[in-house]
Amino acid sequence: MANIIAIVGRPNVGKSTFFNRLVEKRQAIMDNESGVTRDRHYGYGQWTGKHFTVIDTGGYVTGSDDVFEGAIRSQVVEAMNEASVILFMTDCHDGLTDLDKDFAKVVRGLKKPVYIVANKADTAEWSYQSHEFYGLGIGDVFPMSASNGSGTGEILDEVVKHF
Ligand code: GDP
Ligand code: MG
Repeated sequence: MANIIAIVGRPNVGKSTFFNRLVEKRQAIMDNESGVTRDRHYGYGQWTGKHFTVIDTGGYVTGSDDVFEGAIRSQVVEAMNEASVILFMTDCHDGLTDLDKDFAKVVRGLKKPVYIVANKADTAEWSYQSHEFYGLGIGDVFPMSASNGSGTGEILDEVVKHF
């Protein structure tokens, strides 16, 4: 099976920021060659010599009949089906929200490795807040900062064990 990482989670937790960090290099090359937009859903990266595809997704909003939200929702479900490893992103600044709990219900049913990445842990103080996400009952929680890169190596070390 292909090595595919899906980054999922509610809007504004930092999924696209992390995606851009993971695929930065390849994306720049692709931009030069084809002039395509930088807002890509699929990117390619590698860690310790192991190559992978990473999928960025829109937010996941439950309990709405809105057509656009429905489209986002199905895109996320598709990404989760396609992925070999799922990174469920939360936000240490906002803490545990109802939307995170709704999301956890979807993720929990998947028979795939899921890691909670508690983003915006820019400092040790914010990092302590990440313990709250053990309450989702998904499994291990990895505090990280998509902005400054701290903690991202620890997550990738875990993820590439599946590749
Ligand atoms: P998405 O909707 O989940 O894709 O979230 P974005 O990547 O668009 O980020 C939403 C907001 O959070 C933006 O203003 C980012 O600059 C900010 N953000 C993302 N990652 C971090 C982080 O690690 N620390 C902080 N402090 N802000 C972040
Ligand atoms: Mg985004």
